[in-house]
This record gives sequence, C-alpha cells and structure tokens, in this order.
Amino acid sequence: MLGQMMNKPLLISSLIDHAGTYHHETAIVSVDTDGDVEHTTWAQVGENARRLGSALTKLGLDAQDRCATIAWNNRRHLEIYFGVSGGGFVCHTINPRLFPEQLVYIINHAEDKVLFLDATFLPIAVKLKEHLPKLDQVILMGPRDEEAADQLPGLKFYDEFLETGDAGFDWPQFDENTASSLCYTSGTTGNPKGVLYSHRSTLLHSFSAISRDSLALSARDVVMPVVPMFHVNAWGVPYAAAMAGSRLVLPGPDLSGAALVKLIDDHKVTLALGVPTIWLGLLAYAEKSGSRLDSLERTVVGGSACPPSMIEQFREDFGVDTIHAWGMTETSPLGSINIPLAKHRDLPVEERHRLRENQGRPPFGIQLRVVDENGQDLPHDGKTQGDLLVRGYWVLDSYFRKGDDDILQDGWFNTGDVATLNEDGYMTIKDRSKDIIKSGGEWISSVELENIAIGHPGLADAAVVGVSHAKWDERPILIAVPAEGRSPTPDELLAFYEGKIASWQVPDKVVFRDELPRNATGKVLKRELREEYDDILND
Ligand code: ADP
Repeated sequence: MLGQMMNKPLLISSLIDHAGTYHHETAIVSVDTDGDVEHTTWAQVGENARRLGSALTKLGLDAQDRCATIAWNNRRHLEIYFGVSGGGFVCHTINPRLFPEQLVYIINHAEDKVLFLDATFLPIAVKLKEHLPKLDQVILMGPRDEEAADQLPGLKFYDEFLETGDAGFDWPQFDENTASSLCYTSGTTGNPKGVLYSHRSTLLHSFSAISRDSLALSARDVVMPVVPMFHVNAWGVPYAAAMAGSRLVLPGPDLSGAALVKLIDDHKVTLALGVPTIWLGLLAYAEKSGSRLDSLERTVVGGSACPPSMIEQFREDFGVDTIHAWGMTETSPLGSINIPLAKHRDLPVEERHRLRENQGRPPFGIQLRVVDENGQDLPHDGKTQGDLLVRGYWVLDSYFRKGDDDILQDGWFNTGDVATLNEDGYMTIKDRSKDIIKSGGEWISSVELENIAIGHPGLADAAVVGVSHAKWDERPILIAVPAEGRSPTPDELLAFYEGKIASWQVPDKVVFRDELPRNATGKVLKRELREEYDDILND
C-alpha cells in the first residue's frame, strides 16, 4: 500500500518560486564585476530566472544539456543557478583559477553547450574558444558591449538574451533524481573529476543546511557567501538562502579584507561563509580599521582546517561565533558541522571553547566512519585515527561519465582524509592521507602543527609538510609567512610549540616565504612544497 500524499518532485525551481513569492521583497545586494553595488529582490531574481529558463529552451537545447558559468558571486550568477537548473538543464560552475588546459578538459568533458561569462573572464573564452568544438553560445553577463562583441564573434549579452525569454514560462516538471548541476574537483592529481548533483540531493542538502544545528539560515539573516559560487555551489548557500528567504549579499570579485568589512558593515551581514585564508585578511583589516563587525553574528569556516586562534579572535575581539564545518565537492559539500550539544552547556568555559575547534558532527542524512587500512572499523573514541568514510543523501555515487567505475567501499565513499571520531560523532581531521607525516613509524598531523603556528602573532600564514630524513624517513618542517611588519626568528617559532605537543613532533626546521602556493580552490599545494624542500634536512 502506498501513502496517499501528494508526490511532488523536489525540484530547484520550487526554491526560487518560494523565494520569489513568499520573500518577494527581500533584498539581494550584488557587487557587479566593475564594483558597482546593485540592489534587487528575490521576486526580480525569480522573474529573471524564468526568463532565462525560457530563453534557453527557445535556443533549442535538449534537457540536461550543460550550461557552464565562469563568474563571480553576483546576482546574474544567482539567476543562472535557478534559470538553468529550473529549466531542466545542468548548471556547470567552473573555477576560473584552473589552468587553461584544465578548463579546456572540463568544458569538453562536460560537453558544455552554453558558457556564461563575467567580463573579467572574456579573455579566457577568446583564447580557448577554438579548442571547444561543442560550445555553441558564449553569453557575457551584462548589457551589450560593442568592444567585447568585437573580441569574440557571435558573443551574446545576458541582458539582451533575457529579453528573448518569457516571464510567464512554466517550469518543466520531471523526476527529482534528474541532474541539476555539475562541479569538478580541483584535480590536484590527474584530471579533474565531475560530481553531478541532482535536484533531490540539492533540496535535501538545503533542508539540512537551514536547520538549527547546521548553518541555520533564516528569513531574518543577511547572508554573505564569500565562498565562490564556482566552488561546490558556494557550499549550497544560494539554494538554502532561497529556501529560507534570507537576504543575500553577493560580494563580486573583490574579496579583500577592506571590501568584505565594508560590505558587512554597510549591509548588516549576520552570517558570512568562507575559507580560512579569506578570514585572515578580513580579521587583519577589521583590527586595523577599528570596525567592530557589529552586525556579524556567525561565520562558517571550512574547506581547510580553521585554526583555533581564528575562532578565538572572532569570539574575543568581535563577539562572532565561528562554526567550523567540513565537506568536499563529493558531499555537496556539508558533511559535518560543529554545533554544541545540550550536555556541553554546563562545562567550564575553556572546555566549551575547545569543543568548538574540531570539524563537528554529521547532520541527519550523513553518516561517518573511520577504518584501518583493511577497511576494519576503528573505535569512536576521539583518539584512534583512520581513513574517513562517508555516505548519505547528498554524497556522490559515481563520478560524471565514470558511472561504471565502482568508487565506493561497500557503499561508502572514502574521503581521502584521516580523522578521529568521538562517541558523539564529533570529527577531527588530522590530515589528508597523502599529507600526513610519517616519522619513524609514528604519524604527525600537519594540520595540528599548522594550527599552532598560525596562532603565533608574528605569522600571517603557515604550512607544515613532511620532507625526507635519513634516520626518521620523514620529518616535519614549518613553512612560515611572516605577518606584515614582523620578522619572527625560527627559534621563537619552534619554542612556541613547547608544551602544546610532544617534543618529537616539533618541526625540524623553519623556512620563510612571502606566500604559500595554493590550488584553484585555495588549498595549499603541499606536494609542491614537499618537492621544493625535500632535501632541506639532508643538505
Ligand atoms: P578538492 O577536493 O577539489 O580540493 P574540496 O573542496 O572538495 O576540493 O576539498 C575537500 C577537502 O578539503 C576535504 O577532503 C578535506 O581534506 C578538506 N577540508 C574541507 N573542510 C575542512 C576542514 N574544516 N578542516 C580540514 N580540512 C577540510
């Protein structure tokens, strides 16, 4: 016997319909590619999304054809998210920081038919177009621009293209398991791999994201996703914000501390989300400028380990609660979020603060396990570390166009991370398995050593990698980026580890650099650092 309830598919179009109807006046603030601040509403975004869905349909695209974007966080990009997926096509967000060969690979692999571009990235399209045989249309995200038109024959303009669409367009209805959007992992090894989300996985992820023990987006929040819309769908925030009817502040291209502090203060942002490096810049500028970040209540930090010193600075200097979260492209991305339990309420304050430092626990819909090298379960004791496995409603099953490769381990996805879990499911990432340092048979967590180093006031940034050692196989070295106007000595930095970790874990050497090499998603390229410094202890 089947239940007798309406069987409405979970479709992305329903999100924008909801926001456009029940949160129609709610503001979307968007910084344009040329720096202008534009104000719109969910109603207008909804209308434009419909026009876009209609215009794409009139182009004669087939259902699920891929429409790519190379764009900043702005309102046209938001309209594309809903217009493309809502119209039954697949929204493929591309990271502009990838190498040209990777861009060509991705666009051809995805067989993108349409490419939406911010003006910043027009030169990329001009240069690569001849290598993209399947690409039919390039649409510049703005009004007509004759200079741009001269650079690329056949270039269309978003604002004109919208005019060809119908505001009364009816969203198509289809199976909720239909593909909705596509993101490629940054591919530090080998070619990037595509993760193909569905309407259903996106809606379930959104329901989870807005819940109280997750990101808790509400109609009273002003949400600023600093995490790019080309990086795992800005952690799903555009969809979740539509579901919750939150205001949005879309920061455009300038992610400097100064620009972000101004946006927070001008538009009374209550919740901002981004990777740790972005917040380093923001905190440094806020301290210098004297801004109190008065409106900001919460910040969500993930993508790389959030140093405890950052959580403390947000809390002590600005009264901002930092929510540490973990995830990956393959998990949509939210896999765990650090929110306290009722039983933590009466703990001594220091202990409560310590508990906020780890990567948090899985929300309903996600399960986590740690296993040894034979796939055997390890205890959830908060101490035993192993390979982290995940499964859930918004975790991938197979990579795009590699559907025949069984990548799962008995139905679980191996994250490539090494972690511990405690009895309540709180997870601590020790390392990516390829970055963990093996010294004389013992493991050293590079993340732990980095977290401590970044807490030193003389440093702006730090990375720890394992390099060859004649006796111990591998030993950690600290690669340190001094803070502006500071020049800490190696001895001073190494002494900073005393009493915080076992003495055999303290790095063997410190090298200074002006900046750390990072990949397209802002992660430190540890492989590059290892290669560069591999002989440093043997010389
Ligand atoms: P890519 O895999 O393409 O580099 P992802 O954004 O998918 O990009 O990266 C996911 C990885 O990022 C995780 O497997 C983990 O190693 C790391 N990561 C994400 N969030 C955290 C966090 N809060 N702490 C530590 N590492 C994190």
